[in-house]
Amino acid sequence: MRFKDLTVLLNVLSVFFILFLFSCAESNIKKDVTPLPKNPNEELNTIAESYVRLMLGMDTHERGYVDAYYGEPAIKEEVELSGVTLAELKSEAEELLQSVNEIDMTGEEEILLLRRQYLAKQLESVRARIDMVEGIKFSFDEEAKFIFDATPPTLPDSFFEKIIEELDDLLPGEGSVSERLNKFKADFIVPDEKVDVVFEEAIREARERTKKHIRLPENEKFELEYVRGKSWTGYNWYKGNNHSLIQLNRDIPLSIDRVIDVASHEGYPGHHVYNVLLENKLAKGRGWVEFTVNPLYSSQSMISEGSANFGIEVAFPGEERIKYEREILFPLAGLDSTRVEEYYKVFELTERLDYVDNEVARGYLNGILDRKQAEEKLVRLRLLTPERAAQRVRFIDQYRAYVINYNLGKDLVREYIESRGGTSDNPEKRWAEFEALLSSPRLPSSLN
Ligand SMILES: [Zn+2]
Repeated sequence: MRFKDLTVLLNVLSVFFILFLFSCAESNIKKDVTPLPKNPNEELNTIAESYVRLMLGMDTHERGYVDAYYGEPAIKEEVELSGVTLAELKSEAEELLQSVNEIDMTGEEEILLLRRQYLAKQLESVRARIDMVEGIKFSFDEEAKFIFDATPPTLPDSFFEKIIEELDDLLPGEGSVSERLNKFKADFIVPDEKVDVVFEEAIREARERTKKHIRLPENEKFELEYVRGKSWTGYNWYKGNNHSLIQLNRDIPLSIDRVIDVASHEGYPGHHVYNVLLENKLAKGRGWVEFTVNPLYSSQSMISEGSANFGIEVAFPGEERIKYEREILFPLAGLDSTRVEEYYKVFELTERLDYVDNEVARGYLNGILDRKQAEEKLVRLRLLTPERAAQRVRFIDQYRAYVINYNLGKDLVREYIESRGGTSDNPEKRWAEFEALLSSPRLPSSLN
């Protein structure tokens, strides 16, 4: 071996030696590195970003699925152009659900546990909704459970007939109870030319009452618009940045009780306030992007509709409502103020018939009742006029088991608030619990 060859050999060996040292060092690095402890909130943030896209993707297959979106417009545009299929959405929902369930939440604070549960339940909802859009038929009760996370009771006709007997005694005149009720109600319709002023006043009052208890951002506002040809009476379209568009359907004669109901349900402290609180406290306050999207057919709607309905009596409890109606709304509408008590006695009883909607929807959607029978049942037990009954069945055609969110949702929210001390004789606590619920990711399964 020549000297030059030896030098080459040594050089080669030293290169190998250096490479060997490097590989040892690298494997030592690998061995020494322990993964950084995962932060469940950050893991949920990542899942939430995919969740928003998933919900927006679902809306491309079922228009109206997303009721409100006020996140980045670019994300929506991108999803709209992506051409994502239902099959892809479904496997995405399943993967996200698995990831969400795998996160170790040991020792985390309650609000984070609720956030995780919120994402899991909403993902289960969308997965079931994809099945429905693909043509799978669920029974009414399956749909209630899979989409809205709730179990509506089954009530026999006799339950409603007892309430109708009480109304029978209260309502004078000839004809069926339904006919007499609708004749009675005709005296309490707000004349067309008074609707605007009466409604504006009710919203002003509802807002004032709410703002005494719930701090709202300076720029919060809503626009009011009158529309026709809808299956609903009122609707809140939340636009983001503390702004709502409230639509009122003018096809339906506005009975005086509907004025406060719609003002509170759609506005204060109902949908408008719920969305404002979610946007400010969760979407912006905590950076939880899942709250920039509001899917209509999901368990969140049980809280949304339930709190909007319960909110009516939080803002206008019993006697206070009667007083306000007698002194302000009835005179403004040109109605006879001496009949306020009489009207609200009848109204309170008819409200207790609201679960008829579920029974009709169950029978109709399960194929037990045809359209005509469903309408007849709404006239006989819900005491609607035939026109209103036909409109209600059209609502069921469009929204299906969603009807449970109004009555069962209201009762679940009431029971939850009252079980925490927010009873009618403790209004401060009632408002505080109500605001806390509206500012949280809480869903039906964690209402008890
Ligand atoms: Zn509503």
